[in-house]
Amino acid sequence: MATENIYNPSRNAHAPARARTSTPNIIVLCGTLIALVMVGLCALVLYQGRVDALERARDTSRNLAMLAERDIERNFELYELSLQAVVEGVEREDVMSLPPQLRNDVLFDRAATARDLGSILVLDENGKIVIDSGSLVPRSGNFADRSYFAAQRDHPDTGLYISGPYASRLRGGAPSIALSRRLSYPDGSFAGVAMLAINLEYFRNLFAGLSLGPHGAVSLINHDGVMIMRQPFDARVIGRDISHADTFKNFRAAQKGSFTETSSIDGRRRLYYFSNFPNLPLIIMVAEGEEDIYAAWRRRAIIIGSSMGVLAIGFIILSFVLAAQFRRRMRAESELQLLARTDGLTGLHNRRTLGEILDQEWRRARRTRSLFSLLFVDIDRFKAFNDAYGHQAGDDALAAVARCIGDNIRRPVDTAARYGGEEFVVVLPDTPADGAAKVAEKIRAAICDLSIEHAGSEFGRVTASIGLASWRPERDDDVSALIRAADEALYDAKARGRNRVMQAGPA
Ligand code: GH3
Ligand code: MG
Ligand code: MG
Repeated sequence: MATENIYNPSRNAHAPARARTSTPNIIVLCGTLIALVMVGLCALVLYQGRVDALERARDTSRNLAMLAERDIERNFELYELSLQAVVEGVEREDVMSLPPQLRNDVLFDRAATARDLGSILVLDENGKIVIDSGSLVPRSGNFADRSYFAAQRDHPDTGLYISGPYASRLRGGAPSIALSRRLSYPDGSFAGVAMLAINLEYFRNLFAGLSLGPHGAVSLINHDGVMIMRQPFDARVIGRDISHADTFKNFRAAQKGSFTETSSIDGRRRLYYFSNFPNLPLIIMVAEGEEDIYAAWRRRAIIIGSSMGVLAIGFIILSFVLAAQFRRRMRAESELQLLARTDGLTGLHNRRTLGEILDQEWRRARRTRSLFSLLFVDIDRFKAFNDAYGHQAGDDALAAVARCIGDNIRRPVDTAARYGGEEFVVVLPDTPADGAAKVAEKIRAAICDLSIEHAGSEFGRVTASIGLASWRPERDDDVSALIRAADEALYDAKARGRNRVMQAGPA
């Protein structure tokens, strides 16, 4: 209520209520903070899940690569031994002078009959087949144009050479690679090549057994960057040179490792694991599609993340609702409190509040030994006013007078209150009698100046009489004595003709 502030702002202070005004903000702050912490923890857990998914994929790829690598290494070791046996046998005259059947039995062990193995051939220095594991009478053919033949012929120290893929002429174009070794005359000059063909079906079957998700890939690449086999299988990719691709450069940069890269073959982003064979010029690469790696995680993240988001937003909304409710309740409480302290008609403090204020100020005055003044204001011939103008006009006049009293006290510690009926009390702490008399006179004059018509009054307008008492309270003095003194001064003012201020004599 505005009047309360005008008449006495300091009396409007509700200290505990003010301390509680920050509570709604704290509720919102805590709610938001808890929601943020919840979201943060959730994000952390989800992020960790993503890292784990990647780590798991890396482990899977490593295991698959190792499995394939071991299989290939073991087979190639056997093939190499077979080839070595051929090279050594061909250089021995006693073996070469054996009848063809026996010679072939000595030269070619059982490895030559392995499922994925093509023929083992001995070629002379012109590339012509001279010994053939597949036939006692060597099939006719010349392989001088093959890369392995040229490599062995032109570079005596090549050793074991693994060719790129080619279409076999002896096996109806079956895609193959060849393991080859150089044959030399005793003087070291080129005598031909011993070669062993491996069907690429072997790798294809091996890779087909590895399960890598719908977007996974496994590749076997030689050191020149030529693709020997790739799963998912595509005949056009076999034999392709990928030596210029970034992925291949990564493969050659370290013995083994993993990285994420976009495939040069199908443009998919994959997690690559690669390993260079320790004893062969080959690289195995296992790659899992990023989509596959994170598929399960993503599904989980969407469900958990959105649930947590909804929960957090709900939590924040709840804290806002709670804070608003708290605020509303506080407002209602303070309004109730204000109502309980205020006089409904005039907006001044009511009698109960006056009692509290008087008590408090009287104690303070006693403590500080300061002068304490009190005015008793009573409207003159108000009964007659009511009788002449009606009760409603009486109420209006009462309110106008109250406003007038309030307007004429200026210090925050001064208080005006309705004592009852048409009587008001003004408390003026720390005010000497002459100062209080000035205030009283100001109030009297102001009421008179309202010029509210009052035919029943000797002044023709509404006036008030004021009794003033001013004390410096001693230790045992009671405030009721001061009120009594002011009331007596008021009675005196009435007796002396009204519309005047009278001061109580010294106690
Ligand atoms: P005096 O000059 O001696 O003070 O005469 P008076 O008529 O004012 O004194 P009295 O105490 O006899 O009468 C007070 C009157 O004030 C009684 C009642 O009619 C009027 N009154 C008291 N309270 C209210 C109120 O809340 N509203 C209205 N309209 N009148 C009130
Ligand atoms: Mg009266
Ligand atoms: Mg009166």
